[in-house]
Amino acid sequence: MTAQIIDGKQLAQKLRGDWKQRADRLNALGIAPGLAVVIVGDDPASQVYVRNKIKACREIGIRSDEHALAGDTTLDTLLALIDRLNADATVHGILVQLPLPAHLAQAAVIERIAPEKDVDGLHVRNLGNLLAGHAHFVPCTPAGIMEMLKSTGLDLRGKEAVVVGRSNIVGKPAALLLLQAGATVTLCHSQTKDLAQHTRRADVLVAAIGKPRAISGEMIKAGAAVIDVGINRTPEGKLVGDVDYGAALQRAGWITPVPGGVGPMTIAMLLCNAIVSAERHAAEQGISLNA
Ligand code: NDP
Repeated sequence: MTAQIIDGKQLAQKLRGDWKQRADRLNALGIAPGLAVVIVGDDPASQVYVRNKIKACREIGIRSDEHALAGDTTLDTLLALIDRLNADATVHGILVQLPLPAHLAQAAVIERIAPEKDVDGLHVRNLGNLLAGHAHFVPCTPAGIMEMLKSTGLDLRGKEAVVVGRSNIVGKPAALLLLQAGATVTLCHSQTKDLAQHTRRADVLVAAIGKPRAISGEMIKAGAAVIDVGINRTPEGKLVGDVDYGAALQRAGWITPVPGGVGPMTIAMLLCNAIVSAERHAAEQGISLNA
């Protein structure tokens, strides 16, 4: 069997076309969708992510302002910036690039973002809404995973879904979304005994571990849909996922490549959340989007 490749770049491009139309409509109505991106320090990977996000925003007509702060910025200074952005009516989304430097309490920073501007969907109120089944903003990477699964045409109801990794950003929300889609979900992590015993049962396997090739070919059920979230750099400088891609190609029904899989979809879903937030703002102003 040769797996079908779920091309995240292509899918993201298609979705971005729809969202550009929505951004154009907002701009024409005098609501310029605005995203504030906050980055602290000079981590090279974070800088690349922020640059890509800002570029993607601009391409579809979202105004994007970068707020770059020095690595030794205090918590008070960062929180004061977030307060200003919360109060700024031209800012519809606020994204704080993670991880933050160790001296900054990440949870306190995320909790300071107004939930209605939390386009990363990481505020406890947004995570709680997701848990309760009425999400306001879905975290971007899990939202992208669900779009990729949708593109396969698979009916997730009754399927065995196994998520490896339990972070608040990826694993836990991905498991909740799969559960809401009707799958029977197992959430694995570093304490899981005999990981392969779980993964081999998976019709849908999501790997969000951060360890190169942690999922070997024998750990994949024949015909499964495999979503590889991991981004790892090998000593040779190559980017690889958490799944042994070559082996998965031979065994899975669908596989996402790294790079070019979940990464572009994460950015695409950020654009979506920013547009949705600006549309909600327009509705609050009594501006009809159907005019
Ligand atoms: P975290 O480090 O926060 O979480 C990793 C998870 O993997 C933890 O729950 C950990 O378990 C689990 N884990 C670690 N080792 C094993 C193991 N041997 N067996 C089973 N589980 C294990 O990472 P993130 O969730 O933030 O990210 C995961 C990966 O996805 C990273 O490579 C990251 O770069 C990538 N990523 C990619 C994105 C994209 O857009 N493509 C977006 C976000 C992340 P425990 O909780 O017990 O420690």
